[in-house]
Order: sequence, then C-alpha cells, then structure tokens
Amino acid sequence: MPLVSMNEFLPKAKANRFAVGQFNMNNLEFAQAITEAAMEEKSPFIFGVSEGALKYMGIEYTVAIAEAAAKKSGLPIALHLDHGSNFDIAMKCIRAGFSSVMFDGSHHPFEENIRLTKEIVKAAHAMGVSVEGELGTIGGVEDDLSVDEADAALAKPEEAIRFYEETGVDALAIAVGTAHGMYKGEVKIHYDIIEAVASKIPVPIVLHGGSGVPDDMIRKSIQCGVGKINVNTENQVACTKTIREILGKDENVIDPRKYLAPARTAMKEVVKEKIRLFGSSNQA
Ligand SMILES: [Zn+2]
Repeated sequence: MPLVSMNEFLPKAKANRFAVGQFNMNNLEFAQAITEAAMEEKSPFIFGVSEGALKYMGIEYTVAIAEAAAKKSGLPIALHLDHGSNFDIAMKCIRAGFSSVMFDGSHHPFEENIRLTKEIVKAAHAMGVSVEGELGTIGGVEDDLSVDEADAALAKPEEAIRFYEETGVDALAIAVGTAHGMYKGEVKIHYDIIEAVASKIPVPIVLHGGSGVPDDMIRKSIQCGVGKINVNTENQVACTKTIREILGKDENVIDPRKYLAPARTAMKEVVKEKIRLFGSSNQA
C-alpha cells in the first residue's frame, strides 16, 4: 500500500470516537517498532517527522523507510511533517513523497497564521496531501508559569472555529493545556475548549504532548473530539532507558544490535499500549 493522506482515516476516527496516533520517527528502529506494533494491532498510524529528525535522517532515507513500512505492513500510514515552520519546507517534503504536513504558524499573529496556513492548504490539497494547522501556544509550559500566563496561551474556541473555516485544514492542533516533553507537574486538559471547537468543525482536534498524559484524560479527550494524538517522548524514554541499562550492565558490549534490538522491543510495547488506549486497533 502506498503512503496515504490523513483523510484516509481521520474522518472515520472523529465519527467513531477513536484517535490515530502520530508516533515520531527518529531512526530506523523507531520506524520498525511503530510499524510492528501497528501490524499486530491492525491500526492505521502517522509517522511524525520533525525538521530536526529530517536533518538527522535525511529526507531520502525518511521517505524510503516510511514507504518500506507501508509496503511491508499493508496498513494505511501517513508520513507527516511535524511542526513545519514555513511554506518551502512543506513543499520540499511533499515533493519528496510526504503524504501529510503540519504548518505551525502559532507564533505568528492570528491573521498571518490564517494567511500562511491557507497557502499551504491550497498547494497541499492540489497534490492530495493533508494539512494540520496550529492555534495557541503548545509547549514551553513550565511549572512556575502563572495561571494567567498559562490561560493566555490557550486557544480561543471562536478563533479556532474561524481558523478552520478560513483555512480548510484537515486536522487542527489547539493549545488545551498539554505540553511537549514529560510532565513535571500535574497535567490539566481544558476539555471545554476541545468540545467547543470539535462540535463546530468537521475535522478532529490534535493533541500534542501526549506523552505522560494519564489514560483517563486521554479517553476523555477523545470523547470530546480529539482524533489525533502525538507521542514521541515516551518512545525516546523507553529507547534510551533500555540502552542505558544494557550498556551500564556490561561495558564489553560493542555490537549495536545487542542494545538496539531490545530498545526497539521496548518502544514497540509503548506503541501497542497507546494504540489500544486510543481505540484505533482493528481500524486499518
Ligand atoms: Zn507538537
């Protein structure tokens, strides 16, 4: 099966109240772990690739690995640029074979974010590629941030609805309280914002910073209209923890397969758990 746009599975996810996981690909072992987990669960999924990961792996390897995963698994897989910063990088990815892109214009003023996102949607849709937009500030949320500042970064429902109507994005990331990385304090998700937006637009809400969010909060977010959830940090932790343990126990290990294979197995378990939690098993 070739790589597919997120529209192959996101409308169904929103209608049937499940979420499709975006699992970030950082190297071959991540890609294999994610694909094997999804094959066992018969789940669609999204390979997220950040601009940093793209630089690390190279765009040719990235596309080739994703295409190999789609061919081997027969699953609907989207290859998605995560937090794309401008039009040129989005077009570069689409030309190279990406089936989906995110444009993160959240740091631009509202009207400018709409204008830039619209341009990318127009070009991407002409090529059958799906687009995720972002509104509000996700991440950079620190423990010592005051409540006022935290609230100021949240998305305003009326703006999010207008953003969707003007841009025509296929999925919308809005700041609802989650943050990138592992959480130091308690997570607070503003379900009211998710519900207010999701009930008024046909496309699903995207939850960034899915790592470390308690299971019951994930389930409730999906019931409120979240249809795509991003996970990266938990896989990074599982990978690095496993490697650290193996190398710490035996300093004579020199064959990378001796620590990368167990690291891959550890990530596969994380992904399988997430797929079950998100409810996307048997939806491929
Ligand atoms: Zn993100």
